[in-house]
Amino acid sequence: MDTVERAAALRQYAEETSTCTRCALASGRTQVVFGSGSHDADLMFVGEAPGFHEDQQGVPFVGQAGKLLDKLLAGIELTRADVFVANVLKCRPAGNRDPLPEEIASCEPHLFRQIELIQPTLVATLGNFATKLLSGKPAGITRVHGYEQEVTLGARTVLLYPLYHPAAALYTPSMLKVLEDDFARIPALLERALDEPAVTVEEAPADVVADPESVQLGLF
Ligand code: URA
Repeated sequence: MDTVERAAALRQYAEETSTCTRCALASGRTQVVFGSGSHDADLMFVGEAPGFHEDQQGVPFVGQAGKLLDKLLAGIELTRADVFVANVLKCRPAGNRDPLPEEIASCEPHLFRQIELIQPTLVATLGNFATKLLSGKPAGITRVHGYEQEVTLGARTVLLYPLYHPAAALYTPSMLKVLEDDFARIPALLERALDEPAVTVEEAPADVVADPESVQLGLF
């Protein structure tokens, strides 16, 4: 698929997803928050789930955490139009509670289809839920943030880069400093990932599993 076809396929997938009823979150949402940004982004961010404002506006990361994300992006001379931002869950859990394992499992195909169509080379996971889901490993974000790792997602190998969730860094200055430092490595990682383009493997091992343990660990 060329870039025009992938753009059209992503639009069509967003349309299909807008009526998703794969899990119980469908009944409480205002709308599905599919994701936003460039359909052709080299860099993709994956957060946790829409909050109140995201549910209202239909766009990920529009609240306080989103403002911090914008500021961090500006710090490396990128805007939201240069990247694609999505979440593990496309619908808001009531009261912003943690995602449940069955919700993650139900929603997972949407994220994988997005990654397949956008074809990012670098996927930055924000917080525990996205990191554990896409790494397929139980190690928490406190241990793995700032350490890039190659992972096979569907039919592609991408560079996965775990970061603290901006919402966690908002009120903890020491965590914010770590997030800023980790963010500062993104341009070099992007360059590296683009120099060694993501490999498409013949037989795609589905080595991504939802990790029930992550549910208890929240953003940290
Ligand atoms: N937190 C997330 O993880 N995602 C959003 O879209 C907003 C806040």
